[in-house]
Amino acid sequence: MSSLEYKDLAPLFDFPRKRILQSMDVYHCPHAVFYNQRDERCITCHQGEECLWMNRNDALIALEEKPIDELKQQLLIAVDYIDANLTPHHLSRRDCDCDNCHWRNRVQQALNKDINTLKP
Ligand SMILES: [Zn+2]
Repeated sequence: MSSLEYKDLAPLFDFPRKRILQSMDVYHCPHAVFYNQRDERCITCHQGEECLWMNRNDALIALEEKPIDELKQQLLIAVDYIDANLTPHHLSRRDCDCDNCHWRNRVQQALNKDINTLKP
């Protein structure tokens, strides 16, 4: 059993949702950012990963019905994404106070609560 609860993780999804949507080119998407696995345009889309993340973790999706482990996994994917898209304002990770780092720290703290349950 994880010591983490849905309420620890759910609020952390707001920031990457906003960031990923902002960065996506929604205008040219034929499906309004609803991933369609039968459409070749979706499979070859350069925004495929962001789009899949959004479709798994959208605000409309009942995250509370998903296993905590999956929520953790999806948050870590979001961390990678945010990391890869840091703004020029982000200087050094140690002292940085940008929104990205702020959010990263919150994710880190939440996941650290769970450290006792990690397998060796
Ligand atoms: Zn930063």
